[in-house]
Amino acid sequence: MTEEELKQFKAALSITTVARDLGIPVVRGRCRCFFPTRHAHGDRTPSVSFSEERGTFRCWVCDDVRGDVISLVQFVKNCSFLEALNWLKETYGFLLRGTKPQAQNRVSMTNSASAIASPNSTASRVSPAESAALVAKAAVRDAALEYSSPEPVKELVSEDERKKIILSFLKMLSPVDKTPAAAYLARRRIYKPIWDKMLLRTITDYGALNNKLKESYDLEVLKYVGLFSEKGNLRYYKHPLFFPYLDTKRRSFYFQARAIDSTVVPKELNLRGTVPFPYNVSALDERPGWVYLCEGVVDTLTFLGQRIAAIGIPGVRSFKTEWLPLFKNKSVVLCLDKDEAGRSGTEYLQTVFAQAGIRTVVLGEGVDQFGKLSMKEGEDINDWFGGKK
Ligand SMILES: [Zn+2]
Repeated sequence: MTEEELKQFKAALSITTVARDLGIPVVRGRCRCFFPTRHAHGDRTPSVSFSEERGTFRCWVCDDVRGDVISLVQFVKNCSFLEALNWLKETYGFLLRGTKPQAQNRVSMTNSASAIASPNSTASRVSPAESAALVAKAAVRDAALEYSSPEPVKELVSEDERKKIILSFLKMLSPVDKTPAAAYLARRRIYKPIWDKMLLRTITDYGALNNKLKESYDLEVLKYVGLFSEKGNLRYYKHPLFFPYLDTKRRSFYFQARAIDSTVVPKELNLRGTVPFPYNVSALDERPGWVYLCEGVVDTLTFLGQRIAAIGIPGVRSFKTEWLPLFKNKSVVLCLDKDEAGRSGTEYLQTVFAQAGIRTVVLGEGVDQFGKLSMKEGEDINDWFGGKK
């Protein structure tokens, strides 16, 4: 399939129909988040919205839950880009010109899901639609477990000990210089002074690091602090770029890991537990002035590269009102993505800051520091500064 054919195929698909065929109930263009545990009340009020026009979806709480029809299949079925594409081709083959549909409504089942969908020999009694729904349910549950395991009930190590372990883990990582992570950052016009300033780190040898950690700590402790998966391995196999959240003393007990391969979903993995403060909290120094508030670390780094004071929040709704005192003497430029979720998030933050008596403006509406500026529909800050995805 050429890139052009892929484009046409995607354009021919209705993302809402695909979602429904995956067993996701879409009501008025919305569905519940695939990671309900990240949401209050298990996302009882659906947070994921679909744009039929653009063929995209997005959770307005989880920054990493967004994408096109292929990423949607990846999320729900917990599979690779190619597996997702193959599933779409098998299911909607009739949309491909000159290709005969393969076995009608065939559903390719994966590992745990197939075990659930066909216990013993009852598989033939389960209709394709039913198995599709079962696949979806199982995959959603697995994905939720993988990315946001519930806090363990028993405290295995003290909070101080937990922080020490996270710090020592970050110390085991390598600087990004001359690694694929450096190339990824440079494509986004984020260069070495910023890598060093923000102590960006990467994994150069996953296997060695995995072993080193297992030798240094008890496996249950590694799982407890959130570094290791339930299966007993370091989580960040596909997310090798690390953004430590540095406190004002440049220590870090919290980080976000980022995939540098664009086919990986979700793009970001946050360390389990609550986000302690906005990214680059040092910019909130109580000196009078403007601070730019961005969605995500990459956008924040883009501003820092331009010597602009910026902070980042992981998702539009991840802002915590208890952070408001940190904004003492500051006015805030809101720089969320120019899309539906970004706009809703902007409105929300305008309200929150206004109630606290903190002045806000929206980037491009009132701040003219960059001359004639306005982000185009669908753009984020990095796009706007000319970074390449
Ligand atoms: Zn969500």
